[in-house]
Amino acid sequence: MRLILMGPPGAGKGTQAKFVADHFGVPAISTGDIFRANVSEGTPLGVEAKKFMDAGEYVPDEVTNQMVRNRIAEPDADPGFLLDGYPRTLAQVEELDAMIADTGHQLDAVVVITVDQDELVHRLLQRAQTEGRADDTEDVIRRRQEIYGAETEPLIAVYKGRGLVHEVDGMGEVDDVTKRIFDALDVVEQS
Ligand code: AMP
Repeated sequence: MRLILMGPPGAGKGTQAKFVADHFGVPAISTGDIFRANVSEGTPLGVEAKKFMDAGEYVPDEVTNQMVRNRIAEPDADPGFLLDGYPRTLAQVEELDAMIADTGHQLDAVVVITVDQDELVHRLLQRAQTEGRADDTEDVIRRRQEIYGAETEPLIAVYKGRGLVHEVDGMGEVDDVTKRIFDALDVVEQS
């Protein structure tokens, strides 16, 4: 199973990624997590990535693509993988196509978790309060959502054109959302 999981900040994507990856016996690969781990270990990759992450920018495609290529070549990704946070640009979409084609496989599905904007902002504001993140004002949160929407839209359009997109309602309990994702992917497994 080769999957991409997409969803706006606060949609519970990380939590769902783990459940879904465990279910299919594949690794959940989060480019953000890999970058952060490299930054805290002070590896050459981390030193390079940090410059961009600190500036709130994307790490350049050649660095990110090579990192993903190496990661999916590891033995635990033989049965497949679930990508979280990648691809994020159209160039990365193309590169991922090439990587998967090189292994003789194909992308099976793109799961897009959708959430009601106002509910999401409400959730994130509550989280900001309990975690003491004073910088996360409503404006900042809404702006992040807008950026996310603008960035992912072209990617989702490409994958929709290929008939790979499964939109899943991300509202409600975590377990319910997981179940909806499995229901959507059941269709993929059987086809
Ligand atoms: P995330 O936790 O997914 O928001 O990622 C944290 C940071 O890592 C981002 O702000 C980017 O600087 C970098 N990053 C993660 N994934 C990618 C990607 N696919 N392409 C470029 N940069 C990325």
